[in-house]
Amino acid sequence: MSAPPVYTYPELADCAACGARRFRAAARLRFPAFPDAFQLLECASCGLLFNSPRLADQSALYRSDYYVFAESEAGRQGAAMSQFRALVDRLGADRLRGKRVLEIGAALGHLSSLLARAGARVRGVELCGHVAQAARERFQADVFAGSLAAFREKEREARFDIVVACEVLEHVPAQPAFLRDCRAVLAPGGVLVGTTPNAAARSRGAWGDDWEGFNPFHIYLYTPSALRAALGRAGFPSPEIESSAAEPAPGGVGLRRARRRLVRALDSAGIAPVLRNVVRRFRRAAREPRPFEQRPLDEILREAAPSFKDADAGGEKLRFVARAE
Ligand SMILES: [Zn+2]
Repeated sequence: MSAPPVYTYPELADCAACGARRFRAAARLRFPAFPDAFQLLECASCGLLFNSPRLADQSALYRSDYYVFAESEAGRQGAAMSQFRALVDRLGADRLRGKRVLEIGAALGHLSSLLARAGARVRGVELCGHVAQAARERFQADVFAGSLAAFREKEREARFDIVVACEVLEHVPAQPAFLRDCRAVLAPGGVLVGTTPNAAARSRGAWGDDWEGFNPFHIYLYTPSALRAALGRAGFPSPEIESSAAEPAPGGVGLRRARRRLVRALDSAGIAPVLRNVVRRFRRAAREPRPFEQRPLDEILREAAPSFKDADAGGEKLRFVARAE
């Protein structure tokens, strides 16, 4: 018999984003992987959502079937392409050449490989050892296996012009230390850039508990003001924060919700992994995409089209660009 899970209670401390100490219950969600309800609290001051109580050891969640690593190759490429586009739109493709870039949460190395092809000198940090190994083998990527804190411990002198953290912030338990670590590895004048789900997204209201941002891996969900406060306290005095312009089609909500419920039901019955494998094998056989490594960068930039606007837009994702003071 396995031991019961151990929890910690982060609400006993200050808000990780703004430092306030008043919270309210925001959501109680059920996930098949969790024996108890997944509870989110909300900072009454900045709107930061955070999981509490939470698993004392989050690493058990990131097994080989973790959804990002299990994603199809086409899905992985699509995500990397839009992230690349979102960064290049903001930083300028010509400004990547020769720059020292650290990608945190490098996963299987797709985004790192695009940044390297744009002329950047890229290194990566990835928590999962076997995933980091896969990135090294496929893309010859220079990926450290471990946390950012462990990377800093090992490479005290390493400094970067650009730190990239796309879809990472929401997963990291060690906050606010994580953003301070990002600041610490930046060279003078360096810039932190990334994306994270928007806790103030209009879609959250439409979806309720079925909102895409709610999953057992997302233990911190930022509103624009929470993100501004957190970045400010970590040494980024005037971050630029925008939200994605794309909105889900209102007519599609009912269908997507039904599909999500079906997947959850199959998950609890243990059927979903089997089905997923069948679908994946079928898709792989159906099309042989052009090797990602050989696709021209300008074609990738044309194809992937994320568009971001000002913070109050209430889009699904936030993009932040924060210069070190
Ligand atoms: Zn707060």
